[in-house]
Amino acid sequence: MRTTTLEDRLRQRLGDALLTQEPLRHHTTMRIGGAADFYFAARNPHQLVEALKAAREFALPLFLLGGGSNLLVSDDGFRGLVLRNAIEEIEFDGTAAQVGCGTDFLELIYACRDRDLAGLEFAAGIPGSVGGALYGNAGCYGQDIGSFTIECTVASLDGAQVLTRPAAWFEFAYRDSRLKRDPWVLLSCLLQFRRGARDAIQTVIEEKLEVRRVKHPQWRVEPTAGSYFKNLPPGFQVPGLPHSPGTQRIPAGALLDACDCRGLRVGDALVFPKHANIIVNAGRATAKDVLTLAELMKARVRVKFGVTLEEEVMFLGERPRLESGRV
Ligand SMILES: Cc1cc2nc3c(=O)[nH]c(=O)nc-3n(C[C@H](O)[C@H](O)[C@H](O)COP(=O)(O)OP(=O)(O)OC[C@H]3O[C@@H](n4cnc5c(N)ncnc54)[C@H](O)[C@@H]3O)c2cc1C
Repeated sequence: MRTTTLEDRLRQRLGDALLTQEPLRHHTTMRIGGAADFYFAARNPHQLVEALKAAREFALPLFLLGGGSNLLVSDDGFRGLVLRNAIEEIEFDGTAAQVGCGTDFLELIYACRDRDLAGLEFAAGIPGSVGGALYGNAGCYGQDIGSFTIECTVASLDGAQVLTRPAAWFEFAYRDSRLKRDPWVLLSCLLQFRRGARDAIQTVIEEKLEVRRVKHPQWRVEPTAGSYFKNLPPGFQVPGLPHSPGTQRIPAGALLDACDCRGLRVGDALVFPKHANIIVNAGRATAKDVLTLAELMKARVRVKFGVTLEEEVMFLGERPRLESGRV
């Protein structure tokens, strides 16, 4: 008689949507990453909580995936369960909306436009899910999603608790939220918008998409995870540069530009020629290529400015050993 495997037991709990040995490069905008032992896309909160409980019961390492747009995955993949939040409903109520955290961010912006609701259009072109955006408080042009948030519903990692907490609890800050230190799983959020004119909202959306089209890689054809390093804090004194007290963050790209990083290449990992803080996968880049290139960029900035850049892109899986390289 055949013994029951971990896969059998997981499949009993999660059904046939459970995938095994799923290549994670299919689920990241960098198109890099080995296979996950198990992969499951939860389409509703019940499925997601069930998957959390099953992962805990079977002592499986767990990674929660949104759109995979801020992520570099190891070439060896992930030994555990990758749980994709694919809860995608949007329910409008006046100028507010209850949004499933697997909803695509741009789809939400279009849905708001179609109901004459303004607010998030500044973010048109940020890929990924609403949950991923809340986790890292995604934003640009000095605005972010956290400031539109009234409350979010989260599950504990073991699936035992589901709670609704007000925005303040999430401690939204620049590319940061409490969830980076105290992990909970975002199920849905209540966001507040304001009345706006559909045409004006559409104009802003088009402008933002056009700026990105000109300056940034098109991730569907030039795979990338966007800005690789975080910008420096406001008023940060970069050694060797004139002090400019103020509220603007110093872009990491400015330091990388001063170090001639555009066009640097390791294997098929390439610093985007139009933006020094973006790494693209120019063919068959491996995670190791990207990490080696990122170390080279950091080393140049460290040598020239004495500043250590901090990664914005997250890494999943085992880190490979990198050869100490050139500067
Ligand atoms: C071309 C390009 C341009 C970009 N421009 C910007 C920009 O202007 N501003 C900006 O802020 N970012 C930008 N990004 C980065 C990225 O798009 C954002 O960080 C995005 O919000 C990540 O969402 P995601 O769903 O893809 O998250 P993922 O990459 O899937 O995950 C990121 C993290 O969020 C966690 N997470 C995901 N979903 C949940 C959930 N439901 N509950 C709890 N944790 C969760 C994951 O565990 C992981 O730790 C850009 C990326 C690209 C490729």
